[in-house]
Amino acid sequence: MDYLAGLNEPQRKAVEHIDGPLMIIAGAGSGKTRVLTYRTAHLIEKGVDPFAILLLTFTNKAAGEMRHRIETVIGNAAKNIWMGTFHSIFAKILRFEGTRLGYTSNFSIYDTDDSKSLIRALIKEKNLDDKVYKVNLVLNRISNAKNRLIGPAQYTGSSILAEEDRLARIPAMGELYQLYCARCFAANAMDFDDLLFQTNILFRDHLDVLNKYQHKFKHVMVDEFQDTNVSQYLITKKLSAVNRNICVVGDDAQSIYAFRGADIQNILNFERDYSDLVTIKLEENYRSTKAIVAVANSIISRNKNQLKKDVFTSNEDGDDIEIIRASSDNEEGRMIASAIFEAAQKENLTWSDFAILYRTNAQSRSFEEALRRLNIKYRIIGGVSFYQRKEIKDVLGYLRFTVNQNDEEAFKRIINLPKRGIGDTTIAKIVVTAAENNVPIWDVVSNISQFQAARGSAGIEAFSDLIKSFKLMVEVEQKDAYEVANHVAKASGLLRELYEDKTVEGLARYQNLQELLNAIKSFVDNPENEDKSLATFLQSVSLLTNADADEDPADRDKVTLMTIHSAKGLEFNRVFLVGLEEDLFPSQMMLQSQQDLEEERRLFYVAVTRAEKKLQISYAESRYQFGRLKACEPSRFLNELDPNFVKMAKPAGARKEVSSFRPVQKTGFTAKPAPSAAQLIQKPTTNTNYQHVVSANFQATDALALAAGQKVEHAKFGFGLIKRIEVNGAERKAVIDFEKGVGEKTLLLSFAKLMIV
Ligand code: ATP
Ligand code: MG
Repeated sequence: MDYLAGLNEPQRKAVEHIDGPLMIIAGAGSGKTRVLTYRTAHLIEKGVDPFAILLLTFTNKAAGEMRHRIETVIGNAAKNIWMGTFHSIFAKILRFEGTRLGYTSNFSIYDTDDSKSLIRALIKEKNLDDKVYKVNLVLNRISNAKNRLIGPAQYTGSSILAEEDRLARIPAMGELYQLYCARCFAANAMDFDDLLFQTNILFRDHLDVLNKYQHKFKHVMVDEFQDTNVSQYLITKKLSAVNRNICVVGDDAQSIYAFRGADIQNILNFERDYSDLVTIKLEENYRSTKAIVAVANSIISRNKNQLKKDVFTSNEDGDDIEIIRASSDNEEGRMIASAIFEAAQKENLTWSDFAILYRTNAQSRSFEEALRRLNIKYRIIGGVSFYQRKEIKDVLGYLRFTVNQNDEEAFKRIINLPKRGIGDTTIAKIVVTAAENNVPIWDVVSNISQFQAARGSAGIEAFSDLIKSFKLMVEVEQKDAYEVANHVAKASGLLRELYEDKTVEGLARYQNLQELLNAIKSFVDNPENEDKSLATFLQSVSLLTNADADEDPADRDKVTLMTIHSAKGLEFNRVFLVGLEEDLFPSQMMLQSQQDLEEERRLFYVAVTRAEKKLQISYAESRYQFGRLKACEPSRFLNELDPNFVKMAKPAGARKEVSSFRPVQKTGFTAKPAPSAAQLIQKPTTNTNYQHVVSANFQATDALALAAGQKVEHAKFGFGLIKRIEVNGAERKAVIDFEKGVGEKTLLLSFAKLMIV
C-alpha cells in the first residue's frame, strides 16, 4: 500500500521526519492522528524495530484502531509496537520494575471507589470530621499533588501547603496524604495517579532502569499532547533524552482536561526544552464540510488563550448547522431519535453513522428511551460500565485478593461476602491491627488466633482457607485466568447466591456474572494474549478508560451515545450535540472563572469538530433536574456560531414523535436570546449565575503571567503586591506583600488562586 500517496505535503514531511524532535500543533481533523499512524508504519518500513517504538494514545481503543491500520501497511510486525494509554503502558513497565520500589509484580490497581473507601476509613480512624474532610476534596488534593509530583514528604514539609490547608480548615491533610500512601503501599496497591507518579520516581531514583528504557525506545510519540499533565510530560521527556526522537501531536484548542491537571503549558515547554525542534503546521481539514469548519473557527476565535491557526477545507459546502428547539428533555430525546430514524431511511445511512454527544452522562436517559421506542440500536460509552457493576466488582474483588492478599480494599469488599457473620468492627480491627503492627493484612487474616480471640474468627478462618485454596491454583498449579475465575465464582458462593435470587434483577446479575466469565474465557482464548494469567487479566480490566466501550465486535452498527470528553479524536458522519443550555453547557459546576469558560468553549469546539457531513444542535426549554422540572435558557454558545451557517430546524416530516415541534423561526434562536459572552463580561446582569461568572475571576495562577510589582487579589488574603517570583524546579512561588496587616506570604502558584488587579 502506498501510504505516502494519501498524505499532503506537510503531512508527508512529518511522516518522513525520522531523527530529532518534532511537534505538530494543528486544528481538528487535519490528520494529526493519521500522521502518527503512517509515521509509525514508515519507521518500521525504514528498519526500526517495532519493539523500539512507543506510541501513547488517549484511549486503548484508539491504540487498537491505529495498530490495525498500521497492520494493513506493514503486516504482523505491528503487533509488537508498544502502544496504549500512558496508564496502561506504564502499568506494564511497573509490573516488570516495581520491585525496585518495593511493590511485587502482582500489585493491585485501586480504582476511584477503592481510593475513596480508603480515605473514608482513614478519616474515621483519625477521628476527623467527615463534613470538613470531604472524601472528594481529600482525594482531589492528593491527586493534584501526585500529578504535580509532590510526594507526601514534600507535601508535609511545605509550609506553604500547610498554611493553605490550615486556611481551608483541613490541617490534617498532609498527614492523611502520608497515611493514604503508606496504606496503599502496604496493600501492594497503586491508584491511578500512582501509575504515573511511581514511574517518575522509578526513573528518578533508578537510573539503570531509566537507562534501559531510554535505549529500548528509539522513538517516542504522543497523540493528544495538549492533554498531558506534568507527570506525563516528564516521563516522555526522560525517556527520549538519549535518542531525542520524540514526536508530539495535538491541538491547544482541544485541551479539555485542565481539571485533571492537563497543562497546556507543556506545548510551550516543549519548544523551550528542544532547541532543535522541528514544527510542522497542518491547516487543511479533511474531516468536515465548509459549514462545520466555519462554525468551529467562529467558536474558537473567541478564546483569548490560544495559538494562532488557520484551518480551511476543500470539502463540499455542506448543510447549514441546524438548531433544534425542544420543549423538554423528553421531547429533545424524541425529536432526535426521529431525526435519526428518518435520515437513516432517506439517506441510506447506517446507525453507526450517528453520534449523540452530551456534556454529562446523566443526559443519556431521554435519548435511550426514545431510541428504544423506535427500535434503533445504540451503545453508550462511559457511564456505569459493565466492570463497575456491584456483582462484577464483587467477583473481581475475590480475584484481586487471590492475586494480592495485601489488597486492603478488595479484602474489605469480600471478607463478609457472602455473609460469614463478620461485622464491620471486626473488619476495621483487622485493618488497623495490620497497620499498627506494620504487617500485611494477610498476616493477620491467616493467623487470626494470634492477633485476637475475636468474635467471628471461625468465619475468618474459613475465609482464609478459601483464599489459600485459590492461591494454590494460581501459584502452584499455574491455572489460567478462566480456570481460576470459574472456580472462584463457584467456590466463593457468589454464583450460587445470585442464582438463588429469582427476582428480575437477580437474574440480570447472574447473567452479568456469566458474561464476566465469558469475557475471561475470550481473554484466555485470544492468541494475541501471550500471558493468560489472572494478574494480567485483572490489569487489563482496571486500565479500561471511560472511552473504551465493552462491546461485541460483531455488532457495531449502533448509534453512539457519549460525553464530549470521551469523543475526543473520533469522527461521525452525523453528530447531534444536545443539551445546549445555560448551566448545563457551559456547565455551571465548572464555571469559576473566565479561564473555565474558555475550557468549556474548547469542549464545545471539540464537539462541533467531530461531525463530518452534518451537525445538529439541540436545546430544551425545560428539563428535569434533581427530580424537579426546571426552565432552561439556551446556551450562550449558540450565539457564538457564525450566523451565516446556521438555521433553525424545520419541523421534520409528519412523524408523530415530532408533531409538537414548533413552526420554523427564521432568525434568532429564542424570543429572549442568551447574552453573548462579551456582553456578559462587560455588563453583569442581575442573574446570579452570570454574576458568579463575572465576579469569580480568580484563576489557577499557573497560567497567569505574574511578575514582581504586579498587584493581585487573593480570595482569602485580599489585595497584595508581588515582591518576587521564585522558581525551584517545577515549583513556582510568589512572595506577596498583602495589605491590611496580613503581611508577607509565599504562595505556591500551582495551588494558589489569584487574580491580577
Ligand atoms: P483530531 O484533532 O480531531 O484528533 P486529527 O488531526 O487527528 O483530528 P485525523 O483523525 O487524523 O485528524 O484525520 C481526520 C480525517 O481526515 C480522517 O478521516 C483522516 O483519515 C482524514 N485525512 C487526513 N489527512 C488526509 C489526507 N491527506 N487525505 C485524505 N484524508 C485525510
Ligand atoms: Mg486525532
